[in-house]
Amino acid sequence: MLAAVATAGLLAAPAAAQFDLSSVEVTAEHVAGSVHMLTGAGGNIGVSVGEDGVLIVDDQFAPLADKIRAAIAGISPGDLEFVINTHFHGDHTGGNAIFGEEALIVAHSNVRKRLAAGDGAGGQPGEAAPKVALPVVTYDIGVSIHFNDEQIMIGHLDGGHTDGDSYVYFMDSNVIHLGDQFFSGAFPFVDVASGGNAVGLRDSVGGVLDRLPEDAMVIPGHGPLSTVDDLRAYHRMLTECVATVQAGKDAGKSIEDIQAAGLPDEWEGWGSGFINEAVFIGFIYASL
Ligand SMILES: [Zn+2]
Repeated sequence: MLAAVATAGLLAAPAAAQFDLSSVEVTAEHVAGSVHMLTGAGGNIGVSVGEDGVLIVDDQFAPLADKIRAAIAGISPGDLEFVINTHFHGDHTGGNAIFGEEALIVAHSNVRKRLAAGDGAGGQPGEAAPKVALPVVTYDIGVSIHFNDEQIMIGHLDGGHTDGDSYVYFMDSNVIHLGDQFFSGAFPFVDVASGGNAVGLRDSVGGVLDRLPEDAMVIPGHGPLSTVDDLRAYHRMLTECVATVQAGKDAGKSIEDIQAAGLPDEWEGWGSGFINEAVFIGFIYASL
C-alpha cells in the first residue's frame, strides 16, 4: 500500500485522478478520546467527533470523498464543520474541492499560496485549485480551534516535509497528527523543491518529542497508527541518516559514493515504494 500511497503523493491533483481509486476501502479506527483515524489511499485522516460536529485533518483525494463521508457517518452523525490541511500535497488536500463546500478549511498560509498557484509536489507543475478548495482561515505560526470540548492546537513547523507543515494536537484526547513530517517506520519523502529539508525535519520532530506526553498517540501522514516510541525511532533514523550523509559530504564524497556506501544497517528495511535508500540519501544530500 505504501508504494501506491507514496507514488500518489508525488502527483499533482489532475494526475492523481488517473490513479485508480475505485477499489480503495476507507476504514476507521478509534485512536483515543474524541479522535479517530481513517485510512484509505493517500495521507491518513484524523477525525474529531462530538457534540459540536466533525472536524477532519487532511482529506486524501476528491474521488474518495463519498467513501470518507461514509466512514465518518459510521462513527458520528454530526455535520462536517472544519477541515485542517497538514500541508499542500494532493494526497492530503484533494478532498478540499468537495468538503470545502460545507466546511471551513484551515491551513498554514503557504498551503493556500501553493494550492492557489497550482504547485505540484516535488516542484512539478499542477493545476490551480478552485476557490472552494482553498483554505479560508490561514496562519503563519499557529491557531487553536475549541471544538468537541477540547482545545485543538495547530502549529507550524518550519521547513521539514514542505514549507507549510503543521501538527495538529488534540489536547484532551492526547493525540497528535503530524502529517507527512512522520512516515511511520519508513524513510519519508522530503519535498526539497517545495521548501522541505531533511535537517529541518529532524529538528521539527525532535522539538515535538521534547514536548509530547509519553502516552500520546501519534497519527503519521503515512503508515500505521503509532506511539511516541515509534516517533522516537523515526527521529533516531533521521538523526543517524543525516549524520551519515553529512559525514560523507564533509569528507568530499560525491552523492554516488555516499549512495554506494549506504546508510546504517539498522535502517535497511525502511525503504518503501519509490523512496528507497538511494532516493532518501538524495533528499538529505540536497538538504545539506
Ligand atoms: Zn506530503
